[in-house]
Amino acid sequence: MDARPENPAFVLPARNTCAITSRGTPVPSEAPLNAPHHNLLCPVCARRTTDDGLLLECPADHERTLLRVEYAAKGFTPDLARTGLFRYRDWLPVRRELPGAGGTVMYRSIGLAEFLGLRNLWIAFNGYWPERGCTLETGTFKELEAYSVLARLPDDPPTLVVSSAGNTAVAFAVLASRCHVPCVIVVPAGGLGALMLREPPAPWVRLIALEQADYSDAIDFADSLSRALGGRLEGGTRNVARRAGLATVLLAAIEALPRMPDFYFQAVGSGAGAIGVHEAARRLVEAGLAETPPRLMLCQNAAMAPLYDAWRGTRTRQAHLTAPPQVFAPELTNRHPPYGTRGGVRDCLVESAGDMLVADRTAADAARALFADMEHIDIEPAAAVAVACLRQSVADGTVPRDATVLLNITGGGRRRIAEQALLSPAAPVSVVPAADWRSGEPPVGLLRNCAVLQ
Ligand SMILES: [Zn+2]
Repeated sequence: MDARPENPAFVLPARNTCAITSRGTPVPSEAPLNAPHHNLLCPVCARRTTDDGLLLECPADHERTLLRVEYAAKGFTPDLARTGLFRYRDWLPVRRELPGAGGTVMYRSIGLAEFLGLRNLWIAFNGYWPERGCTLETGTFKELEAYSVLARLPDDPPTLVVSSAGNTAVAFAVLASRCHVPCVIVVPAGGLGALMLREPPAPWVRLIALEQADYSDAIDFADSLSRALGGRLEGGTRNVARRAGLATVLLAAIEALPRMPDFYFQAVGSGAGAIGVHEAARRLVEAGLAETPPRLMLCQNAAMAPLYDAWRGTRTRQAHLTAPPQVFAPELTNRHPPYGTRGGVRDCLVESAGDMLVADRTAADAARALFADMEHIDIEPAAAVAVACLRQSVADGTVPRDATVLLNITGGGRRRIAEQALLSPAAPVSVVPAADWRSGEPPVGLLRNCAVLQ
């Protein structure tokens, strides 16, 4: 029975009623959550809103801002009986749990730490590394956000439209299939190589690839497609659940580390993870677990670094019309990240005394090999960019050798996944020629194909 209190936003389904949709067999919920749970707050006009599971922005007419979440639980109360990201369900804007969710694995580095000369280097590993208990089956921390976003949705949601450079697409293709959520996923065709799946997506999931497009083009096309379909945008950084899911990295860290880290290193594209981590850090400070948030040290490709450029004021972002081919980690190339938005990357950098960093292909390549040698696991290109930036920051004295450092390995173990599972290129994929997506209007055939999901 679904014993619903009056305010649906504060209601979470009872055990075994995790039916996100009425399509097919519902996924069983692992455990009930306790109500009341959370609310949304606009930091500009202070409007409090019931969370309908989809809202991305304050409806009032004022400057752009990221909504915040107010949780009923003010203290840090992980569920010690659980593993995976729902261990932190009290600080996740969700209305259900989904079974099988993995989480971040924390460990203190020995090999890389000794190589760099750091005494307190902690690694937040997100990926597939079963010997360490890390079982994110799609290989990156994007799986955390996909779980969190899907767990936030209302029952029987409209078609969710997601844009991705690649890794988010894999996570949503797998989990939306499993959770019976109608979902359209838009990627640049150049990202298709990373879209390797164990099995084809379910019939209620559509994959769309844009020829000659980059990540920012995919974001724009997803917007017009969502409007034409009457679906709802997943929303990227604007989605409170995406940020909160990614922020569980810091919550895992605060349980494992003796103290709040001094520095937090992460590669960023839109900055959703970094913003989420800073929001969680503020919450931990308010809960009395730390005095200050960690300094955000955010890392991008030297060849194309919109956030770095905005922060340093070195180039205008207009210079980046397309991702140059030499970019090492294409997922870090969002040309329109929420930099100046209230609560966005700039605010988080200022509040945390953080900095933007870059690494070139040579440094990132070397860092990837170094990590494999020292920590004995393969890592994704974006994570290698972060390792390279950490290495440089230690070398130039920015990071003292006795500092407590948290390094977010945002993806790794994909080689292990490939060894243990038969992966195939995602199919079917609807490929949209450049002339069609550049027109701004989604092709009629594509709309018809996606409309059947409704
Ligand atoms: Zn507002």
